[in-house]
Amino acid sequence: MRRDLSDEERLNRVEELRRRIISWYERHGRKHLPWRGTRDPWATLIAAFFLRKTRTSHVEKVYRRFVERFPTPRALHAAAEEEVRRMITPLGLENRRARQLKQLAKVLVEKHGGRVPSELDDLLCLPGVGRYTAAEVLLACFDVPEPLLDVNMKRLISRIFGLQGVSEEELWEFAKRLVPQDPVEARKFNYGVLDFAQAVCKARKPRCGECPLNDMCSWATSGRPQTK
Ligand code: SF4
Repeated sequence: MRRDLSDEERLNRVEELRRRIISWYERHGRKHLPWRGTRDPWATLIAAFFLRKTRTSHVEKVYRRFVERFPTPRALHAAAEEEVRRMITPLGLENRRARQLKQLAKVLVEKHGGRVPSELDDLLCLPGVGRYTAAEVLLACFDVPEPLLDVNMKRLISRIFGLQGVSEEELWEFAKRLVPQDPVEARKFNYGVLDFAQAVCKARKPRCGECPLNDMCSWATSGRPQTK
């Protein structure tokens, strides 16, 4: 890991980053997304499965109908795979997704009494659930201040803190320390980071010239090309 900041500087930057990201999220974030308004872990899991490799706008329509038709793992477990496949066809990858969702519902019903578990280790044992999806469930529904460390958050924090050559595990540890402990603030921060990284700190052309994090960003202050 490159260390171009002292611990104190990094701590101050963390506090400032939280404040600015949450402020940006309050004004520009996608607070209307239906899965961000739910505290239901089953609905959160469904959204996570749908959002993989799929546009948000496509997911919104299917998600609402799906959670209405299958409000619990038991409801999905009882349904025919063909019906599930038909409902999610607009998302693409319907064969694989339908099979995965049916497997997930089966395990939840048979091993967890039809409920989504609230422990990280139990979540990670569910079919199709990795570290990121488990973090989503814990953050959104069980008030655990987990980081949603996807490619967007990785890019943003690597640029801001000048992280290079960092392992996956080190990144998770680092990202954990960025998330506020208060659960409401933790959600706003995480969602803010995801939205901000997609809208401003883009992969190819970051909009550094209009970025509210410009003065605290290692990428921008190290003479990297800035794109308006
Ligand atoms: S200044 Fe540029 S690289 Fe840094 S966070 Fe903002 S958009 Fe991303």
